[in-house]
Amino acid sequence: MTITDIHKSQQVFFNSNKTKDINFRIEQLKTFKQLLKENEHLLYEAIYDDFGKSKFETYTTELALIYHEINGFIKNIKKWSKRKHVATGIANFPAKSYIIPEPLGVTLVIGAWNYPYQLSLAPVVAALGAGNTVILKPSELPAKTSQVMAKIINNNFPHDYFHVVEGGVKETTALLECRFDKIFFTGSIPVGKIIYQAAAKHLTPVTLELGGKSPAFVLADANIKITAKRLVWAKFLNAGQTCVAPDYILVDKSIEQKFLKALKTEIEQHYNNEDGLSENYLQIINTKNFDRLSVLIDENKVYLGGVTNREKRFISPTILKDVTFQDDIMKDEIFGPILPVLSFTNLDETIKNVKEQPKPLSFYVYSKNRKTINRILKDISFGGGAVNDSVMHLSNSNLPFGGVGSSGIGSYHGKYGFDTFSHYKSILDKPFWLELNIKYAPYSRRKLKLIKWLIE
Ligand code: NAD
Repeated sequence: MTITDIHKSQQVFFNSNKTKDINFRIEQLKTFKQLLKENEHLLYEAIYDDFGKSKFETYTTELALIYHEINGFIKNIKKWSKRKHVATGIANFPAKSYIIPEPLGVTLVIGAWNYPYQLSLAPVVAALGAGNTVILKPSELPAKTSQVMAKIINNNFPHDYFHVVEGGVKETTALLECRFDKIFFTGSIPVGKIIYQAAAKHLTPVTLELGGKSPAFVLADANIKITAKRLVWAKFLNAGQTCVAPDYILVDKSIEQKFLKALKTEIEQHYNNEDGLSENYLQIINTKNFDRLSVLIDENKVYLGGVTNREKRFISPTILKDVTFQDDIMKDEIFGPILPVLSFTNLDETIKNVKEQPKPLSFYVYSKNRKTINRILKDISFGGGAVNDSVMHLSNSNLPFGGVGSSGIGSYHGKYGFDTFSHYKSILDKPFWLELNIKYAPYSRRKLKLIKWLIE
C-alpha cells in the first residue's frame, strides 16, 4: 500500500464521521493504552537496544507521560468536546452564540529520536482524542523503537484510522506531498523550516516543537546543594539528549567555586564517571552525534569528566568552566552530556546577553528572591520553564508545552493538545420571530444615529 493510498483511505474514513463520536474515541484510547501495557516488555527491549535506556527511565520519562495523557483524555474528552455558549451582544439580538470544537481531519505526526515513544505517542493521543485520524512517522534513528511502534500499531489499528509509516527523509518527503489537515512536528530547527515550507503549499496548519539553547540562571542566594542536584539530574537525564535540558548555566561569580564543587559531588554520587554506561546512564544515539559532541569538549576548560569511548558511544557527564558566549560550545544547542558553566558579576548585562540569543524552548532560574525571579521571568522570552527546578514543568499537563520564536510554534499536553488538534467553529444562531429593519436599505440618517447610539 502506498503512502497516497493510506492518506486517501484516511480521508474517506474521516468523512464517514465515525471519529466524531466521543465514545468511539474513548474506546480507541482505551485499546491503545491496553496495547501499550500488553507490549511494554517489547518497548523496553527496543529502546535498550537502540541507546541503552533503562526500564526505569523509559517508564518515568516516556510511558508514564503517555499513560497520563491517555487517562486525561479519557476523563475529559466529553467535557472538552461540548459546545460552549458565549455572549451575543446587542447587534444580533435576539440570538445565541456558541462554539463547537471539531476535529481537523487527517493529521501527520512526525517524531524526534531522543524520547522516541513520548514524542511520537503523546501528540498521537491528542490527535486521536480530538477526533482526527493519524499517520505517525517516528524518527528512523532509533530503528528498533520505530519498528516496535509500527508493529504494535499497524497490527492492531486499521490503516484508514491510525497507521505508522517508517522511514527517513525519503518517506517524510513523500508524506509531505499529501494534503494533511494538520502537521505536528518535533525535531530540529532546520528540519522544522522544511516542514513549514511543505505545509505552506497546502495551507496546512502546523505545530512545530523545536529546540534551542535553554539557559539556567543560578543566583547568589540559591540553595547551592539542591540547585546542583536538580540541575545535574535535568542535564544528564537521557545523557543530555533532552530538548528541555539546561543547555548552559549562568552562575553568580560569588558562588561559582562552591557551585562547581556541588555539581561535582552530585555527579560523583549519581553516575559512575569512569567506566561508562550503566543502568543509570545512556549512550549517545549514534556515532555522528558522538563525533559532533566530542569536538565540543575543550580540554583546557574541562572541570570534570571529558571521558569518551567512541566504540561504546559513551561521553561521561562533563562540566566545562570559564566558558564565555564566544566559545564554540555556545553557538548551537548542545544536546549531549556537556555542561558549560559561565559566571557573571552583572545580572543586567547577562540578561541582555541572553536576550540577544534566539528565544529558548526552556528557561530556569534558581533563587530565593521573588522580586528578582519575577523580574527575570518578565524580561526574558522563552517557551516554558521552572523556578528552582528544571525539566519537570513538562510533566504537568495543565501547563501548555511548546516554544516561542525559533524554539517552536504552538503547544500541547492535556487540554492544550486537544486545542492543537481541534478547530473551534463559531455559530450565531437566530430565531425567526423578530426581524429588525435597521441594517437594511434604504439607509437613513435616523438609522445611522440609532446604530451609533447603540455602539457608542
Ligand atoms: P530532526 O529534525 O533531525 O528529525 C526529526 C524528524 O524529521 C525525524 O522523524 C526525521 O526522520 C525527520 N527528518 C529529518 N530530516 C528531514 C528532511 N530533510 N525532510 C523531512 N523530514 C526530515 O531532529 P532530531 O535529531 O530527531 O531531534 C533533535 C532536535 O529536536 C533538537 O534540536 C531538539 O531540541 C529538538 N527537540 C525538540 C523537542 C520539543 O518538544 N520541542 C523535543 C525533542 C527534540
